[in-house]
Amino acid sequence: EKNQKAESIGKRERKDSTPAVYVPVERRPEIQESRLQLPILAEEQVLMEAIRENPVVVVCGETGSGKTTQIPQFLYEAGYGKDAMIGITEPRRVAAVSMSHRVAHEMNLSQRTVSYQIRYEGNVTPETKVKFMTDGVLLKEMQKDLLLSKYSVLVIDEAHERSVYTDILIGLLSRVVPLRTKKGNPLKLVIMSATLRVEDFTQNQRLFKIPPPVIKVDTRQFPVTVHFNKRTPGGEYLQETYRKVCKIHRMLPAGGILVFLTGQAEVHALCRKLQRTFPSASGAQVKNTTETKETKKTKKDQKLPQINLDNYTIEGDADQADDGILEEDIDLDAHIVGVDDEDDMDDSAATATSDSELPMHVLPLYSLLPPDRQQRVFLPPPEGSRLVVIATNVAETSLTIPHIKYVVDTGKVKKRFYDKVTGASAFQVTWVSKASADQRAGRAGRTEPGHCYRLYSSAVFSDFQTFSPPEIARRPVEDLVLQMKDMSIDKVVNFPFPTPPDVEAVKAAEQLLVQLGALQHTAKPKNPKVTPSPVVTPLGRAMARFPVSPRFSKMLALGEQHGLLPYVISIVAALTVQEVFLPSSGPAVQTEEQQELKDAQRRVAQLKKTWAGQGQSLLLGDIMVLLRAVGACEFAGCTKTFCEENGLRYKAMTEIRSLRALLTNAINTVCPGAKVYVDPNMRPPTELQAKLLRQIMLSGLGDRIARRVPAEQISDKAHRFAYQSTSMEEYVFIHPSSVLLKIRPEYVIFHEIIETGKPYMHCVAAVEPEWVPLLVPNLCTFSEPVQDTPPTYDKDTGRVRCHRTSTFSKLGWQMPS
Ligand code: ADP
Ligand code: MG
Repeated sequence: EKNQKAESIGKRERKDSTPAVYVPVERRPEIQESRLQLPILAEEQVLMEAIRENPVVVVCGETGSGKTTQIPQFLYEAGYGKDAMIGITEPRRVAAVSMSHRVAHEMNLSQRTVSYQIRYEGNVTPETKVKFMTDGVLLKEMQKDLLLSKYSVLVIDEAHERSVYTDILIGLLSRVVPLRTKKGNPLKLVIMSATLRVEDFTQNQRLFKIPPPVIKVDTRQFPVTVHFNKRTPGGEYLQETYRKVCKIHRMLPAGGILVFLTGQAEVHALCRKLQRTFPSASGAQVKNTTETKETKKTKKDQKLPQINLDNYTIEGDADQADDGILEEDIDLDAHIVGVDDEDDMDDSAATATSDSELPMHVLPLYSLLPPDRQQRVFLPPPEGSRLVVIATNVAETSLTIPHIKYVVDTGKVKKRFYDKVTGASAFQVTWVSKASADQRAGRAGRTEPGHCYRLYSSAVFSDFQTFSPPEIARRPVEDLVLQMKDMSIDKVVNFPFPTPPDVEAVKAAEQLLVQLGALQHTAKPKNPKVTPSPVVTPLGRAMARFPVSPRFSKMLALGEQHGLLPYVISIVAALTVQEVFLPSSGPAVQTEEQQELKDAQRRVAQLKKTWAGQGQSLLLGDIMVLLRAVGACEFAGCTKTFCEENGLRYKAMTEIRSLRALLTNAINTVCPGAKVYVDPNMRPPTELQAKLLRQIMLSGLGDRIARRVPAEQISDKAHRFAYQSTSMEEYVFIHPSSVLLKIRPEYVIFHEIIETGKPYMHCVAAVEPEWVPLLVPNLCTFSEPVQDTPPTYDKDTGRVRCHRTSTFSKLGWQMPS
């Protein structure tokens, strides 16, 4: 059959006559022998023919069939590294590093020839022929050299993971490949994928007009018996995992055990626990390498009276894309609450070790593990011991561990989730997809029949998604648009995505980004017939680096001024979480219990009043209250009692707490110069800071502004104290729980409008109208000055009329002259 395949490909007309130059490689005999075991070796000829004859080829094969380690070698031997480089992209840093080491080792070449590049780190030399890198790194390179002239072939690995960068890369490369062919310097594209779901790449006319050929690698897979748990453990699944591993080790024949957990902290907890129960023959020690980075902020406050829109300079390397986007155990982890530790685990399942017991060789495996420690999982365990690898999702398809007979699958994975409202992203533990669960099970049947123990019931499994949707479909569009513009991909609407986002949503996102000043229309469109796409501004570039939606990233980008960043972080975290306070209006008092509730509510209202304070602080309104609540709660150690006593929702406060830590960490990563830290003794902002915070809020929420309707314009009593917003025809109202309810400032901004009986504005703060043209100029339209109409003051309306008008004229507000 293989010969037939080769023939049929060979019969096709040669489209390109790249000569096959054989570059000899001298491999060690034991390497050569183990290579011959890999299924991909049988396909070498077919594959290389296909690559020679087609600009784009898709390779599909089971994990462990040898795609990542062997295909770069085939390409090297066929001469693709002669005049240019062979590039391979990975969505995980760990794979880029580990695979470059492995391939160099197999080819008996040094790391000067087979190298890697990940964000902030790499060993590429002028002699590099085979270069492993993260998809983010290649995207950055394309910004400088779109045609990628340094490469003769690009291999996009793990395309099935559908990381957003991989998707964008494939879209870009679908255009670059024909361009290079036209230039007479063809570039080959090889897309590698583990599962068989490749239609998004092959059956997508916008992407590739001629569907690329798919080379399938047949793998010999031994049967794996899948065992479901009768009961699905809840939060205690780590303990269940521990029990299961102990049982397998004590009762079942020799063979390695591979355990799937969700993150670094869990991996360490289970490793320690197992090592204590079954002392290892080699005594490999596991150390938790998580470091706490707490650095004092030393920045002196600049004494400027006003938030400066041009002051968003972020120190650090502004020229780097995010990277390793699928890395589930980045060290933000350390701050996520609810990670089990060894002490939470029940010891009862483990009886005392007896001498007759087989030693256990326990090894951790996760992305941030140093490469030499990762390497250990590939070595045979010490004589007479059992290999047990405790891994995160990296072992699912990125790295194949030999000698595994048993898989213990918790069914969980840590994934990046985006808040729909704020765009803030955080890692959360969730169930895997059916495809992932089957991948994991498959790890047990690589060398002999195996067993997979799923720590969840078959009923739970049947509710799993078939595949997890591509990241691009889960990511907020505004964020995606800004990221792409930041990569100089200006025409987002026309971009050939493997899975495109909604066109209308993309347009709306562009509009919002223009309003926020992150994008701007270029003065002169290159082609007057085409509607120009707005391009990124320096402010937009700064905003693109924060892991929250544009409104909030603008606040964060401006927040470094006047030492406001810790406050802005707290506010953004608090606004992200819904319903911080317990409901303030309850049922009519009838019972004693209800009376108690009423009393508690009265106390909370009083407390809010105290927190809101006076002067500028009060004008910051509900945002000030949120800020004080976050500060007070942190000071009290975020206990349940404190929250209950102060009318705060405990769950909301713990969420805010982890989000605050996460944002602080993320900001220190993207702008090391910021040096922010979570201060449990955060002092309330000064009068000046409170005023500036109002300006910062306006800078991000400028389109959510409302003006109180003058009393004489209101006839209906139900409309008393109504506000007119820019976004709705209907009147809106300050929510009764707001501390500004009685103050009724003339101009307010709000976080959102929620209809509960009436359209209520939530999280309200007062703003000054003269700030609008300065802080959100893109929301204003300014007419040309008319010489003969000097500004006049209209006594009746109290308005200044001037020669400039704004979109806010609907609010009866005109530009102060
Ligand atoms: P695929 O990309 O198709 O999933 P790989 O090329 O990653 O497959 O793996 C092929 C084989 O190489 C596997 O059996 C794996 O165990 C082995 N391998 C990969 N890296 C190493 C390493 N660093 N040391 C030893 N063996 C390795
Ligand atoms: Mg691979």
